[in-house]
Amino acid sequence: MATKPLPKVMAWDKGFWESAQKGILSAQQCEQCQSLQLYPRTVCLKCFSRSLSWKALSGKGKVHAFSTVRVPRNPAFKDDAPLIFSEIELEEGIRMHANIIDCAPEDVEVGAPVSVVFKPTDKEEIHMPYFVLA
Ligand SMILES: [Zn+2]
Repeated sequence: MATKPLPKVMAWDKGFWESAQKGILSAQQCEQCQSLQLYPRTVCLKCFSRSLSWKALSGKGKVHAFSTVRVPRNPAFKDDAPLIFSEIELEEGIRMHANIIDCAPEDVEVGAPVSVVFKPTDKEEIHMPYFVLA
């Protein structure tokens, strides 16, 4: 049986996964220019500063775009189909990709309010973010 690929915790995204374990969505914030960014990187994309810290976000946003995946390429996700892969515009003005769960694709529309939820995985340190319709 195929197993789902899971992220490996890296030095620069450790803060994200530590927050996720507590049910908190967080983003990197540049200490130089105050920009927020997700996904985590080693430098600020705006000013290239390496002084980045973690900021807890509200976990709320709205659907910016989405696509329904009815036949996942990786068979490990077969039982989860249809997957609602989405780009979420967070309240703080940055966007992230995640699946919307616990609803039918027909229930999702651009602009719909959503909030984050986390689910544990086979790796103790990885709690995956998903969104649900608010
Ligand atoms: Zn910066």
